Amino acid sequence: MTDRSSLVDLRSDTVTQPTPAMREAMMAAPLGDDVFGTDPSVNALQEKIAALLGFEAALFVPTGTQSNLCAILSHCGRGDEYIVGQQAHCYRWEGGGAAVFGSVQPQPLDHAPDGTLPLAQIEGAIKPDDAHFARTRLLALENTLGGKLLPFEYVQAATDLAKRKGLQRHLDGARLFNAATAQAALNKRSDIRAEARRIAQCFDSVSVCFSKGLGAPIGSALVGSREFIARAHRIRKMAGGGMRQAGLLAAAASHALDHHVDRLADDHASAQRLAQGLEGIGGLAVEAPHTNIVFADLTGAAQARSSELIASLNQQGILATGLYRLRFVTHLDVDGAGVDRAVAAIRGFFNA
Ligand SMILES: *Cc1c(COP(=O)(O)O)cnc(C)c1O
Repeated sequence: MTDRSSLVDLRSDTVTQPTPAMREAMMAAPLGDDVFGTDPSVNALQEKIAALLGFEAALFVPTGTQSNLCAILSHCGRGDEYIVGQQAHCYRWEGGGAAVFGSVQPQPLDHAPDGTLPLAQIEGAIKPDDAHFARTRLLALENTLGGKLLPFEYVQAATDLAKRKGLQRHLDGARLFNAATAQAALNKRSDIRAEARRIAQCFDSVSVCFSKGLGAPIGSALVGSREFIARAHRIRKMAGGGMRQAGLLAAAASHALDHHVDRLADDHASAQRLAQGLEGIGGLAVEAPHTNIVFADLTGAAQARSSELIASLNQQGILATGLYRLRFVTHLDVDGAGVDRAVAAIRGFFNA
């Protein structure tokens, strides 16, 4: 195996290393004890992300999973349910945490091909107030979902419907700034933060990851009303997420918000370059990416060769995952030359 610097790691945008400037910001951060509420760097980050997304308050949490858990358990009590997509992280990929820790039942729905949950399906899943049923309390959407941007008009319509029906609305915006970047490009706008705020304002709570495309080592934030965040704060403590000199991490997140939002467009361009480079390979169907995630499926006789392909790429210092589909994720530690190496290696595999 090659050393780290020559790896092209396309497994996820979580693999990024903090940049020298980010490490400097971390080392310079004033620290306190966040369980006492006196870590100035955590407090500053929470104020920054709340203001940026147009909410009263925010809570810094170690992971996106804990952020979603705090959100669902703050919106719902025992015997309540949340409507959510079959592929949504907070249903499928979080170990059933809301059910395990909160006795909150998910009501999963199938996604349409564009990643949306059809409005009629949402409406049909809302239970009447009757002793037979769990109480439907919450609609949880995810944007981006598997790298797909949900159409803004859809987000508005779905969250309007939920509001009309008396449901709370949560956004798993682990990659909200990727969504905002894609939305801004579509609308020919340049203010990514304003676009993120427009999406976020359709919801009562939003979770954002700093450790994905934003390039921080650890950390997510949950935003909402002051009263909602007070409830989430209690749940974070119960979940073991009260951290002490957490300003060290908050400073990295804050640096990411200041310096890594406007460069997400580069990752989207890299994903386009990768997808275009893979076009026309027999046995490989590539989905056109909206953001920084490229999915591809092996077709025909190649279908059985997924692990062989991953192993061959690994040998050449190119890392990707094939858990259910082939997935290549671009991020700030992958440059154009890395993308080209990945394309050449994949082409080589099919031409061999
Ligand atoms: C990564 C991710 C999470 C969870 O974040 P962790 O920090 O890995 O717990 C939640 N939702 C989505 C959509 C994600 O991509």
